[in-house]
Amino acid sequence: FATGEEQDLVIIGGGPGGYVAAIKAGQMGLKVACVEGRGSLGGTCLNVGCIPSKALLNSSHAYAEAKDHMKAMGVTFTGLSYDWGTMQKGKDETVSGLTKGIEGLFKKNKVEYVKGWGTLKGPNTVEVALADGSSRSLSAKNIMIATGSEVTPLPGVPVDEERIVTSTGALKLKEVPGTMVVIGGGYIGLEMGSVYQRLGSKVTVVEFMDNIVPTMDGEIRRQFQRSLQKQGMTFKLGTKVNSARREGDKVLLEVEPAKGGAKETIEVDVVLVSAGRRPFTEGLGLDAVGIPTDKRGRIEVDDHFRTKVPSIYAIGDVIPGPMLAHKAEEDGVAAVEIICGKAGHVNYNTVPSIVYTHPEVASVGLTEEEAKAKGLNVKLIADAKTDKLLGAWIMGPNAGELIPECVLAMEYGACTEDIARSCHGHPTLSEAIKEAALATAFGKPIHM
Ligand code: FAD
Repeated sequence: FATGEEQDLVIIGGGPGGYVAAIKAGQMGLKVACVEGRGSLGGTCLNVGCIPSKALLNSSHAYAEAKDHMKAMGVTFTGLSYDWGTMQKGKDETVSGLTKGIEGLFKKNKVEYVKGWGTLKGPNTVEVALADGSSRSLSAKNIMIATGSEVTPLPGVPVDEERIVTSTGALKLKEVPGTMVVIGGGYIGLEMGSVYQRLGSKVTVVEFMDNIVPTMDGEIRRQFQRSLQKQGMTFKLGTKVNSARREGDKVLLEVEPAKGGAKETIEVDVVLVSAGRRPFTEGLGLDAVGIPTDKRGRIEVDDHFRTKVPSIYAIGDVIPGPMLAHKAEEDGVAAVEIICGKAGHVNYNTVPSIVYTHPEVASVGLTEEEAKAKGLNVKLIADAKTDKLLGAWIMGPNAGELIPECVLAMEYGACTEDIARSCHGHPTLSEAIKEAALATAFGKPIHM
């Protein structure tokens, strides 16, 4: 081993949780190293998640706008087409630009980037299998696990990343398929399904539950599904997938009603398996150092991101909480602050989530159903007695850019009357939030 001097902090994993924590640690004056095995920084999010999916959503949306929506504005095109190769190239360039950008930020903030796979060898030791075949032992006062998540496999559906793909394969299909089945009606499946549906694929979403995106507010979900159906997406809800097998260039997918009934075989060009993600801790050596995981494989931590081993912290997708990049980032920053003796904290009740389909759906806080189940009297979604904002659901263009106003309001315990009385610029989409707040606080909006 080449043993270096002791680090204040060694972070295992260079995703949005790990790399942001590393930069924050550098900014706070810690001697920090970040171990990453995949060969580039940015984790799932930048390499095979948020960023490449949004790049394809963006370019396919531009095509769909030109094809279907701009006529009403008096803009027409003749001979409109798209070039899948250029869309893919654009996506790849965005990914490589951003991941290299993080390397630059590491240098700027004096973070050491250790390229290899890390294993815990003790409460203060990480051994790294380096990319060149050698290994290196890092000793650290504190260790942070930020190893993220991976796709949950589906029994009977063997992934080959060509015809039976995960989201990773779906981001780089060689061509736009004629037909596609998305297994799982969560946000990742709906986003990737939207990309291909816009480009001409006939997309069917097969979902075990009776609803898509089960965490969504019921009223919003029904409107959202109707809108996707209008665009041409088909839904087979309450349907169980038994198996998938390849036959030449086709996939034969066997499904049956979730409650039991006649089996059906669907022939399709591409199947996307998108039935959830699970924490990734393979080869990490958790058992050896005595760090337990829960039933879902998530590392157990206390309110300060500390595992059972006091010098080892864990953050991001690998611990409980929403599996989202911005949540991982907030975890990472808070954990570094705690390590530095400051009061780091993340309020999981105000983590927003956004589905980047068209229309976008952005939300924060409780659904109406959840609020009612808590015995609160609610209206879109504030407590009827105190008027305190409990949740917000927005469906429409740029919903993701509008939701932070509601996040901020919730963080500061604002009432809907506070929002209604705040002056919003005109004409802006944000006025819709003011109108909704007027409706909630005074029973009547001005413009509806
Ligand atoms: P990860 O990003 O998974 O990073 C963990 C890193 O650790 C990986 O790079 C891995 O190689 C490395 N690693 C693991 N074990 C070791 C080891 N032993 N040694 C060294 N390195 C190791 N979230 C959003 O907020 N918005 C979105 O729009 C969004 N879109 C998504 C779209 C898709 C298709 C997918 C798959 C995910 C999307 N997500 C989105 C989720 C988001 O990507 C994750 O929540 C986020 O990446 C979690 O960050 P993390 O740092 O915890 O883990």
